[in-house]
Amino acid sequence: MRMQQLNSKPMRAHRLVVNPEPGRLEGGAPRRHIREAESHICKTNSALPLGSRSSPLQAGGKESVSFGGRSSATPFAGVLPRSPSLGVTGRAGGLSPAAHSVKIVSRALNALFPFHFFGCQGRPLLGWFTVLWLSFCAVDSVWAAGRVRELVPGEPVPLQQFASYYGFSPPEMDERTATIRAEGMELVLELNSRRALVNGVVLWLHQPVLSGRRDWQISAVDVETVLDPLLRPQYALATAGYRRIVIDPGHGGSDPGAIGLMGTVEKELALALSLRVADLLRQAGNEVHLTRTDDRFISLSNRVVLARELQADLFVSIHFNAAQNREARGMETFVLAAAGQPSTGEAVNHPSPPSLPGNAFDASSQLLGFAIHRRVLAQTGNSDRGLKRARFYLLREAPCPTVLFEGAFLSNPEDARNVLRPEFMESMAHGLAEGILEYVGWVLRARLEKAL
Ligand SMILES: [Zn+2]
Repeated sequence: MRMQQLNSKPMRAHRLVVNPEPGRLEGGAPRRHIREAESHICKTNSALPLGSRSSPLQAGGKESVSFGGRSSATPFAGVLPRSPSLGVTGRAGGLSPAAHSVKIVSRALNALFPFHFFGCQGRPLLGWFTVLWLSFCAVDSVWAAGRVRELVPGEPVPLQQFASYYGFSPPEMDERTATIRAEGMELVLELNSRRALVNGVVLWLHQPVLSGRRDWQISAVDVETVLDPLLRPQYALATAGYRRIVIDPGHGGSDPGAIGLMGTVEKELALALSLRVADLLRQAGNEVHLTRTDDRFISLSNRVVLARELQADLFVSIHFNAAQNREARGMETFVLAAAGQPSTGEAVNHPSPPSLPGNAFDASSQLLGFAIHRRVLAQTGNSDRGLKRARFYLLREAPCPTVLFEGAFLSNPEDARNVLRPEFMESMAHGLAEGILEYVGWVLRARLEKAL
């Protein structure tokens, strides 16, 4: 997360994101969790070039949150008696009533806390400081689970601290799941799993939520690159662009992409859907470019070159999926995995490159992907395979926030029937356009807030 910003900004979830989709996401389409090992015929992933960008955590500082005005200074300074004995024998001569009362209280406290036990005999100030410090530590250890003292770069974040920091209610937990809620938002985490639900939408973390010594723990990279942008888009998008939208219909020409059931062909569906999305965005007054408008082959590298030449502000590549397992169905949306982190389909400890060019847009890509994913789900009611992490070429190399969208599995009978229905494709186009427009709205609001 951006630690410099954390130090100075209020720690509340952003309303833009937390509001659920009216009438759609809360009820939720049936969610089907299908294993990640399924092979994809849609070939968008190739060899990984290594980049050099360092982790944003390395530039961060340490976030500290104070304890509500509590002071470490002892209130007894200057009036403490020298003896730890009780010795209350009546009013001492020459003392005012107030001083006498202080003396009695001090002696009583001395009896309760014998300073020689702490090696402070003859040094009452040091003794009281020790008592107060130990008391502070004891209270702190009890309260720590419920309050955020600090979020340290690279260290896992205890769930209760996360909840408190971002203004969620205390977690409701059972053996397998933890649920935290804020105004208009519900986040469900699963123990020993990378799967999470944000208002019912599946979101894949890089690392599983683990059980720590006192609390469940969320990895630092997931707080930084996945959850923090969703909760506070105003920081992630303050310098993001929005004017030039590039829509990329996958495949084309000699590359048909996936060839599915009932005569479905990925390159044709991707082009038809992309053209409709572009229409809708233009009708809303946006500048939209397409990497292809007819059935022609364009290499992945040339798509990136085009995005660079156009100075694209965001890039959405549109595809359809297929798998050998015909049971596999639904939609999934990909963004680039964070530096050094595994893709969703890889094992947790899979070796990963430290950084890639696309990692410069981790937070904004995450927001763009989430907006598109949830809007298409809301429009189509399609099965939700989640917002995932991958290292496809376009995600790695595009010069702006980038999302790769996979609308349905052409190898699944139900999905194939759906994509042949004009109303289904129209609702998918509307979902994509709405997601992009929602992202553009977040950018505009973030830029406005920054300017004020
Ligand atoms: Zn494809």
